[in-house]
Amino acid sequence: MVLNWFLKPEEALMLQTVSPLILKLSLFLVTAVATHLIMSFGQTLLHYKVAHHPIGGKLFRNHINFHHTHYADDHLVSRTYLGHEGNITPYFFIPVFLVGGCAYFLLPLNLFVVMVIASAASFYAHVFFDKEYHVDGSWLQRFAWFRRQQELHFVHHRHANSNFGVIHFFWDRILGTYRRPDAGA
Ligand SMILES: [Zn+2]
Ligand SMILES: [Zn+2]
Repeated sequence: MVLNWFLKPEEALMLQTVSPLILKLSLFLVTAVATHLIMSFGQTLLHYKVAHHPIGGKLFRNHINFHHTHYADDHLVSRTYLGHEGNITPYFFIPVFLVGGCAYFLLPLNLFVVMVIASAASFYAHVFFDKEYHVDGSWLQRFAWFRRQQELHFVHHRHANSNFGVIHFFWDRILGTYRRPDAGA
């Protein structure tokens, strides 16, 4: 009502039709960001508690025997990515599908669709970044933020009890496992 006082009638009408759209888009954005954060926290936690813990059984052995053996202190990069044998990434789909299954019943369909798309993009981004960190001469090397991320990930290969995040290392700060690249040997 107060708004109508300031606006011309046609402007008020426009605002009334535009704002539900903006509201809807903001809701989509919040859902997408929340999905990515949940995915990234899940990745960090599983990497920490399953892939680096004997409780993880086969997943633990594969992660240590392949990813951490392929890429260790003196050889952190390779010409092509060595991630195909012993790759445990697909196991991450199990919790993702469990959570996704629950979300299907809890969320309205359009938000569920946003969530599925955001999970797929987030999942792909995690796989993509780990690959780019370890490929020699990645085109992303030109960006300072990427070199910083890569250094933080390499710290994980040198000190396997730290930096479990692949994209966001603030999860490590929260979990108390963060280690700066210049923290010494
Ligand atoms: Zn690891
Ligand atoms: Zn790695």
